[in-house]
Order: sequence, then structure tokens, then C-alpha cells
Amino acid sequence: MTNHDKSSWNQNISRPTAPVTNDGPDTPSRRRVLAGIGAVAAASAAPGGVFAQGNSNDTDVLIIGGGIAGASTAFHLAEQGRDVILLERGEIASEASGQNMGGLGGNGWGNNPDLLSYLTAGGVEIFKRMQIELGYDMEFRLSGTLTAIHTDEQFEYFQDRVSSLRAQGYDLELLTPREARAIEPEANGELLGYQYATQRGQADPVKSTRAFAHAAQVAGATINTGQNVTAITALSAGGYAVRTGSGEYRCQTLVLATGAWCGPVGEMLGIKVPIVPIRGQMWATEAQPPRVFNTIGSAESSFAWSKDNGADASHPPNLTHKNRQRFIRHLYGRQRKNGEIIFGGDRESLGYVTEPDRAGIEVNRGHAAEVIPLVASLPISRVWSGLMPFSLDGAPIIGKISLRENLFIVSGLASSGFGRGPMAGKLAADYIHTGHMTHVLSESNPDRCVTEA
Ligand SMILES: Cc1cc2nc3c(=O)[nH]c(=O)nc-3n(C[C@H](O)[C@H](O)[C@H](O)COP(=O)(O)OP(=O)(O)OC[C@H]3O[C@@H](n4cnc5c(N)ncnc54)[C@H](O)[C@@H]3O)c2cc1C
Repeated sequence: MTNHDKSSWNQNISRPTAPVTNDGPDTPSRRRVLAGIGAVAAASAAPGGVFAQGNSNDTDVLIIGGGIAGASTAFHLAEQGRDVILLERGEIASEASGQNMGGLGGNGWGNNPDLLSYLTAGGVEIFKRMQIELGYDMEFRLSGTLTAIHTDEQFEYFQDRVSSLRAQGYDLELLTPREARAIEPEANGELLGYQYATQRGQADPVKSTRAFAHAAQVAGATINTGQNVTAITALSAGGYAVRTGSGEYRCQTLVLATGAWCGPVGEMLGIKVPIVPIRGQMWATEAQPPRVFNTIGSAESSFAWSKDNGADASHPPNLTHKNRQRFIRHLYGRQRKNGEIIFGGDRESLGYVTEPDRAGIEVNRGHAAEVIPLVASLPISRVWSGLMPFSLDGAPIIGKISLRENLFIVSGLASSGFGRGPMAGKLAADYIHTGHMTHVLSESNPDRCVTEA
């Protein structure tokens, strides 16, 4: 990670006021703790010290990865009474889940919900539950998203798209610039129009991811940070031994939630997981008074990708660059609760390189200024970047890897995993807990692409 002002991610996070116990599944005291999540959550989402070592290194389910996918999986499993240990090599939310823009995508459930509807609309429901019912401050708002339309061709494409999606029961509409400026006064009134997706939202990435990890711990899971997994051995009696820099863990069921590092972690098991790291980068202005209310995007990229998504044997679809050459601009942004206006959009395949590229940031800033002109006059106060887990075919990889016993994966959430991670984790947890795959997960079946190394 490169974050030129890391401290700002850690603000306003206080420690829980109540002790967190770690009783086994279904014990009366554990149930009392579950009932008390709301009270603890109000003062929670604490990093570092709260995630202390557990008592035992043996568990029913072991999850590797403390991003939003792993934290949500841990929460939903622990809530169902499963014995869970989560291992994270850094801190909770120290990679993509803490570095993203904080946009929650989707267009509602639609008439015939598919995996995308579950991951997006279902994800929003989980955010509502965490913040409104369980009391976590995640800075969640169902703000809506405005996507700027710059050209006649984009307008025609979006007109067809909106009418087709509306016919399928999704919630979105086309606005004139005048209508858009009524809800987003700083939006450029000279453009051709805006798509308005009413069911989209935003939340703080770090606070949200830590909230899932904290809720998992309150529900009985052990969250161990600073545990870099270096080796995994399948045990002859069933289950796995998982080695970290400081010890060995044993489990019956293993879950890979290692985001852009699913490839190297998969290699420890002798399997090839076709997920590549894609660098995303962002920039922020100094804190401003409230000026931007929706999340903001541009039609340029989705229109271009609808003609040619650029995928080939080594590049996933929908990138902005190929072989270090930009072929399209992509844009997303919002104003954070702390007042910073943040934007990003580039998606580049560079291996595990995370240094931000200033030239790309300037292109993105120019794009943002075409939609929200006020940002042209605001200096950039910090930039950062992170690695997104793109599967080579562009679809999520969530489910059971049948090449090995009791092995699951929750990943491939690409550029949308902050919004989709919570429900991806819940669907994976339900699969692990019941042993049955819900039908929507057939779209993300790992067996379509995970092979022997
Ligand atoms: C700049 C940027 C902007 C984005 N904007 C948005 C957005 O607006 N909306 C949206 O929905 N999504 C967005 N995304 C995408 C989103 O952040 C990711 O899809 C999502 O966070 C992936 O979550 P994850 O839990 O799968 O991976 P991660 O958050 O990367 O978590 C994986 C974890 O596994 C750990 N790990 C890896 N290897 C090991 C090991 N050997 N041992 C122990 N731990 C290990 C890592 O340390 C890491 O913490 C953005 C991403 C970036 C980079």
C-alpha cells in the first residue's frame, strides 16, 4: 500500500467499552454477547489491540485474509455458532478494503435477482443492518450515484440501458442536467445528462471493514492480525495445517479471502487461482464544506467497454490501461464525511506494484473536473493506491474448490468488492455452514477456473 497520509484513515476509531469474550459455540454467555453487539458497536470498530491472540490455534473454520470479504465471512459464520479463526498478515483493512473509494454499487434487486443483485442490493441491506441495527458507525448513506453522459453516443447507449434495466425491475433513471443539479448542485450543467442510480450508497472503507471484524469477534470469532501465512499443508486425517511467521494453526475447513494475493496463497495448496492484482489509485482534496452528495461517475468507460472490454489471455476485462498504454478513462468519487473530495478510476495490470502514478492522477482529475467543475480549483492534498482482485474472466470466485477437501474461496470481487464483499461473505458462510450452495453462487463457481498448478 502507498498512502501518503495513512493516519487519516485511523481517525475517530475508539475502543469498545465492553469486554469481548471468546466462549465456544452456543454457550449461554456467547449468546449474551451476540445480543449485546449493538451496545458494543456504538463505540467500536477498533483496530490493533482489540484483535488480540485467541486461546487456541485449532478451529473448525480458518479464514485467511482480513479484508471485507474475510471479515464478513467470519462474522456470518461466527453468528451461526461456528468456531472461526481469521488470520491477517497486516491489520484489518490494511489492503484494498481500506483503500477504496467507498462506493456501493447496484440498481436494486430487480424482478429476477441474480448474483449481481444479491451482492449489491443484498450488500446494501447488510450495511443497513450493521449501521442501523447493530450500531456501527460506518458512515453509510444510501446517497445514490450520478453518472455523467458526455456524448450523443453515450446518451443513446445509456437510454437503451436504462430502459432495459427498468423493464427488469431495477431502479435507475435518466436525468436532464437541470434535474441532476437539483440534487447535485455542483454537477456540470453543460453535459448531455446523467444516469441516476437511486439504490447506490457510500460508506467509510476502514470503519466498515473493521466493523465486520469486530462484530465477528463479538460473535465469538478469533481475529489474529500480524499473521502472515507462509505454508499450508493438507493433513492426511482431513483438514489443514496453516503456518504463519509465529506458529501453526489447524482447521477442518479453510477459506481463502486473500484478495489480490489469492494466486500466491493458492500456490501453497498446489492450485492455480486465476486472480491478478490490478492497481487502482485515488487522490483527495483538502476538507471542504459539504459540496458533493451523491457518488459520482462518468459514462465514458462503460460505453467504451460495452464495445470492447479489452480482455485477453492475461488481462481481465474492463481495465483502463493495457501494456502500460491508457485506452480509456474511468471515474468514481464522492465527498467523505471528513470533507475530503476523493476521486479515482484507473485500473492497471502491473503485478504487485502499488506506487501511484501522478500522470494518471492528473488525467483522472481532469475527468472529474469535467463532471464536478469545482475540483479544478482544488489542489490535491494526498494520493494513494491499492490492489484489486480481478479474476481473468471478470466474474467473482465464491464457493467451494472441489480440487481439495473442505476448501472455499471468497474473492475475484475486482473493482466492486467493498460493496459486494459483505454479501459475498454471507453467501460463502451460508454455504460452509449448511453444506449447500445457493443457486446464485453457480455464477461464481470456482471450479470454472481454478486448476491444479
Ligand atoms: C483505489 C481503489 C478504489 C476502489 N473503489 C471501490 C469502490 O468504490 N467500491 C467498491 O465496491 N470497491 C472498490 N474497490 C475494490 C475493493 O476495494 C476490493 O474489491 C475489495 O476491498 C476486496 O476485498 P478483499 O477482502 O477480497 O481483499 P483485501 O481487502 O485486499 O483483503 C485481502 C487481505 O488478505 C491479506 N493477505 C494476503 N495474503 C496473506 C497471507 N499470506 N497471510 C495473511 N493474510 C494475507 C491481505 O493483507 C489483505 O488484508 C476499490 C479498490 C481500490 C484499490
